[in-house]
Amino acid sequence: MIRSTAPLSAPVREFPKPVLVISECLEFEPCRYNGARIHFDLVHALAPHVEYCPVCPEVQVGLGVPRDPIRIVADGGRNRLVQPSTGLDLTEDMEGFSARYLDGLGEVDGFILKSRSPSCGTGSVKVFAGADAGGVVRRGAGLFAAAVLERYGPLVVEDEGRLRNHRIREHFLTKLFATARLRQLARTGRIADLVRFHAAYKFLLLAYSERGLRALGRVVGNHGGDPFDAVLAEYRTGFLGALETTPSYASMINVFQHIFGFFSRELGRGERVHFGGQLDRYREGQLPASAIALLLESWAIRFGSDYILDQALFVPFPVALASLADSGKGRAAGRSLTP
Ligand code: SF4
Repeated sequence: MIRSTAPLSAPVREFPKPVLVISECLEFEPCRYNGARIHFDLVHALAPHVEYCPVCPEVQVGLGVPRDPIRIVADGGRNRLVQPSTGLDLTEDMEGFSARYLDGLGEVDGFILKSRSPSCGTGSVKVFAGADAGGVVRRGAGLFAAAVLERYGPLVVEDEGRLRNHRIREHFLTKLFATARLRQLARTGRIADLVRFHAAYKFLLLAYSERGLRALGRVVGNHGGDPFDAVLAEYRTGFLGALETTPSYASMINVFQHIFGFFSRELGRGERVHFGGQLDRYREGQLPASAIALLLESWAIRFGSDYILDQALFVPFPVALASLADSGKGRAAGRSLTP
């Protein structure tokens, strides 16, 4: 849809504040076993845009700061949380705290948990053969993180270590702010708002999963008068599933070509050739996706296509967060899209 109205400017997107549970040692409190606080730039950058719920499970089960280290020990198939220096077994305390905390949490959109911790680590945490001796017999999640993953699933939970990678961080933020929007929709109770959400996320979903896009279209279109809450719950599950893995270059190019199709007939030959050349550079890894997106967005403004301008693909989370410096494993800093 290209309307020949007066040129628009790029719309200012407003985002609801996601509710984000975070390990308290990540910038909030010096509550690690050795009294340290972990520096993590993302925590500061996110602060104006989210509602934080910091928690330190080990302090909550009564361990002091500083404290002797704890570890996970294999007990058959079960993981136990023990403090070798004192012989304390904290398993029941931690499991009890985790259940009570999550029961009382209310609405939540995501979790950022400290990596490698026997309480908060989401995976790859060492599980030892014994409290005092014995090597690593397997790896798994910390006890608090395991309770989070069991209740909420892996799709809204991320490990702070992984979030230091630009691509993973962008992927997480995309999901986080979309989830907050879906939670906000629950308050309106209107199917029309869900239809609008789906329309705005069409090209983002197409980039992630064409099959997911179609399945979600059916959820929105064929609800048959089902209660809104049930439709929204089904949509949310499908949406997070569709965003399980980051899009490939090929699917991003497919989406860019789709959007280009909205404008191609209006453009001059030179512009069309230029777009093809830029797409080739993106395909070869010489340009970030954001460069192609900016080009398309500028045409959407020029031709007054508010449908394209409204696409979450262009701004899936607050612009200020996209300018965070890369960790060195991704691309240059600046507004970017995945991949
Ligand atoms: S990793 Fe979790 S339990 Fe350990 S200090 Fe941080 S918040 Fe507390």
